[in-house]
Amino acid sequence: MTETRLQPSETAQPPAMGRGASFIPAIWDRATGIAGRRGFIVLFLVIGVLLPLIDHNEGDIDAGANALAFAILALGLNIVVGFAGLLDLGYAAFFAIGAYAYGIFSSYQVQPEWWGFWEPFQWLGLVQHIQAADGPGTVHFTVSFWLMLPISAIITAFFGVMFGAPTLRLKGDYLAIVTLGFGEIVPIVARNVPYLTNGAAGLNGVASPTLFGYSFGVKSLPFYYLGLALAALLIFVSLRLKNSRVGRAWLAIREDEIAAEAMGVNRVKLKLLAFAIGAGFAGTTGTFYVAKLQTAAPEMFTFPVSVMLIVMIVLGGMGSVAGVVLGALILQLLQSVILQDMTQWIHAFGDLTGIEFFKQLDLVQSIELIFGIILVVMMRFRRQGLIPERAAVTALTHAQQTAVPSRSGVKSGLTPLHRRTIDPSKPLLEIRGLSKSFGGIRAVRGLDLDVMPGSVVGIIGPNGSGKTTFFNLITGLTQPDGGKVMLAGEDVTGLLPHVIVERGIARTFQNLRLFANMTLLENVLVGTHTRTKTGAIGAVLRTPRVRREEDAANERVLETLRIFGNRLMPRIQHLARTLSYANRRRLEIARALVSEPVLILLDEPTAGMNPTETLELTDQIQHLRDRGVTVLMIEHKLAVVNQIADKVIVLDHGEKIAEGTPKEVHSNKEVLRAYLGRSTDAVAEAAAAS
Ligand code: ADP
Ligand code: MG
Repeated sequence: MTETRLQPSETAQPPAMGRGASFIPAIWDRATGIAGRRGFIVLFLVIGVLLPLIDHNEGDIDAGANALAFAILALGLNIVVGFAGLLDLGYAAFFAIGAYAYGIFSSYQVQPEWWGFWEPFQWLGLVQHIQAADGPGTVHFTVSFWLMLPISAIITAFFGVMFGAPTLRLKGDYLAIVTLGFGEIVPIVARNVPYLTNGAAGLNGVASPTLFGYSFGVKSLPFYYLGLALAALLIFVSLRLKNSRVGRAWLAIREDEIAAEAMGVNRVKLKLLAFAIGAGFAGTTGTFYVAKLQTAAPEMFTFPVSVMLIVMIVLGGMGSVAGVVLGALILQLLQSVILQDMTQWIHAFGDLTGIEFFKQLDLVQSIELIFGIILVVMMRFRRQGLIPERAAVTALTHAQQTAVPSRSGVKSGLTPLHRRTIDPSKPLLEIRGLSKSFGGIRAVRGLDLDVMPGSVVGIIGPNGSGKTTFFNLITGLTQPDGGKVMLAGEDVTGLLPHVIVERGIARTFQNLRLFANMTLLENVLVGTHTRTKTGAIGAVLRTPRVRREEDAANERVLETLRIFGNRLMPRIQHLARTLSYANRRRLEIARALVSEPVLILLDEPTAGMNPTETLELTDQIQHLRDRGVTVLMIEHKLAVVNQIADKVIVLDHGEKIAEGTPKEVHSNKEVLRAYLGRSTDAVAEAAAAS
């Protein structure tokens, strides 16, 4: 995907931007848009390596090292908040856990009595035996810093999962409150288990890292370069993750959790993965930070730290890796260098003029007020942050926009879909006695339906007759009260939505559920989730297998988008939210199709389309059937149903009142009554009598 370089312009920007956009932001967008991903890491490293050569001030280098630590924290939090959309206000807790993990295992804080158990650890160099004049002596933990960096990540990742698991059903404000609580608990625990943490006084004498016999000591420079290396590594990891199957699934969850599930994303697994990886980043940073300070105290990990990290992300650009790093560096340096310098100048100014206010003013103390101001200003003028997650794309040329009727395009592309062997003589979908009530409303009542492979079945019925609920029951979004759903002889009743997609049922939504802030290409790529395998490690390493899988997925997506001629193809780098209504419907169908379903459920696919577009889509659906996809569609436009449906069922008040060919159904008295009201009954009877 990297080869399709985005061209900055204003077209795809959110409306809020249009007003605030002036010349300077435009230039900035252009600059940041062009600075590609790889370019960013190189730039970051070059500037980072050169800075200490220019600025020899020990204090500045120390501030730089701290700023890098916060950049890593922000990167980790960005995975949770920016990518997966899980607002975590207690992230500093993981920072604390990583810090104490190293602090405890490389100081004299905990000194259990020595006995044989510790001998293998001594042999591994993890502990020392401190001899005592009387008794067996004690254990001194001496776990190496370099070993603890990954171990802390693993420990905190574990805590990330432990803490993420009970919050999985929570979203937005609720999640924020629970995480805030967790963030409060950890420093309190640290304060109250003095045996492990030395309580409020803080750990003492945490060992400084050594490398090839060279001790880092209290020098800032080695920590600065180590921080730089860690930050560069984790920027790389973040970027790789984001542009992978895993990252797309996270973004999909962020954009629309239900749609993500219905496209095959295992919500639980991916959310926990985000928590774990995000926490892991914090664990590593905690170890780094404590080794640098050689102490750890509960106050270092309280709520304001989590808030500061959120502000860094908002300032830089939520979800934007480069933006988050920039935001963290700016804010941390603002706090530790810029505000201090400014305060000194203001004091000098105060002394000079004798104005008491300026003599007393301390900007560092007002940091929270300054964060607040930054948040408000960003929300008002530049919501997407300094470096937005998405670079804008150029508007289409007039030629690109002119729709080429895609009826000819239909015939090209789309190789026959991969599928299991399906017995053509048995129903593909068998539904027996399916029911669902919402309180007093019996939305679906004992529905039976057989759908033969390779057929198109239409569902019609007045509004509120339970059609959408019926689809939700089949696709696992709603649990049935009773009844059975069988796909190709297998019971799929009540399975989780992503499992049902895996089994081969894909769907579209009546009230369009696209991933609004993802590109068309990414939207459809999410649909390939069930048919691909890449996990977090594969995404970071990007092995040849992963590359092949990614190429194949891209290929398949483009092939599927080509079904719609030039309706979607020229726009693949545009955000889904910029699409016209009809194109959104097409995109949803494409997204469902790439999951390689045997059965596709279309919920009012032509709603909102004009007659030409309707005709076009009808044709395309017919084409799908020719390719072997079985179609079950809810459709109000009788012309469409008449043209392509092999069978029509009519729902009314959750019951099937008629079933048959379109012709049979149209002459059914019950159907006329349901659609046109009872008064026609008399008309029909009168007509029959005459
Ligand atoms: P249709 O798609 O045929 O227009 P629906 O399946 O959307 O109808 O709705 C059928 C009935 O079930 C309606 O009365 C609707 O209000 C009700 N309903 C659907 N979903 C829910 C829900 N989640 N909670 C409560 N009532 C619901
Ligand atoms: Mg509906």
